Amino acid sequence: MADGGSAHAVLRIQGLRKAYAGHAVLHDIDLSVAERETVCIIGPSGAGKSTLLRCINWLEVPDGGAVFLSGTRIGVRPGGAVAMSDAELARMRTQIGFVFQHFALWPHLNVIDNVMAAPVHVQRRPRGEVRREAEALLAKVGLSDKQGAMPARLSGGQKQRVGIARALAMRPALLLFDEPTSALDPELVGEVLAVMQDLARDGMTMVVVTHEMAFARAAASRIVFMDQGRIVETAAPEAFFTAPRSDRARQFLQRYASSPDPHPPVAFATGPSLSRDAGKGL
Ligand code: ADP
Repeated sequence: MADGGSAHAVLRIQGLRKAYAGHAVLHDIDLSVAERETVCIIGPSGAGKSTLLRCINWLEVPDGGAVFLSGTRIGVRPGGAVAMSDAELARMRTQIGFVFQHFALWPHLNVIDNVMAAPVHVQRRPRGEVRREAEALLAKVGLSDKQGAMPARLSGGQKQRVGIARALAMRPALLLFDEPTSALDPELVGEVLAVMQDLARDGMTMVVVTHEMAFARAAASRIVFMDQGRIVETAAPEAFFTAPRSDRARQFLQRYASSPDPHPPVAFATGPSLSRDAGKGL
């Protein structure tokens, strides 16, 4: 095994630090995510959640610490002294899918071409094989009937589901979600959470930054609670939501309890009907 990876950790973060203009935003973050785990990162605004996600795939370069994907260090060549070239970094990034708050689809490509673009042009995989997988992925996110549609004709929820299919089309080892539903109209949130819940059940390895507490409680294998650039608490979802150990988590959850979650788990049942068999083994 390459330097620093533990047996089944898809992601391993060690001592990660990041500051902006002398202001520390992440302090010595340690976190491992095992294969098939869904880790939900929650915490107040400004806690460093988004910065942590962006440091994982080197969209932000950390000031210290190390990130390993399936045992291989990201951003730095073996030995730890020399930064990876852009090409090396780009190759590693193909193994990490990233779903942003605003997923910018190619406006001039229809839905299936959006999903196929990176596997064909970046991974240089055969078109026919990629098309079959893209069709299966679009079925999986409930958009078989939109393959030929242009992005401008889609709702925000549909665009975000295409974004998820597009990330999956690279066959990533790890999927990162940065508040994927926070820019959506409330009535469209449930259909995106339903897709994510389905992926979690299928055993996709995911790290999800979210404010959707009902989703986190239902879908997470583990909750990571962050505040002021630190991981304050890590716990199983039921334990975290019923008996948080830290005062800061308790206060955070109390604030949520006093403003009821607008998207209770029942929303998952009203999402698109997902074909459980489509895309299996992708
Ligand atoms: P969260 O995702 O938990 O809301 P962020 O990671 O977005 O938190 O931000 C953590 C802190 O880092 C905030 O104080 C934010 O203002 C600061 N920050 C984030 N990105 C930058 C940046 N590019 N330049 C300067 N400060 C930043």
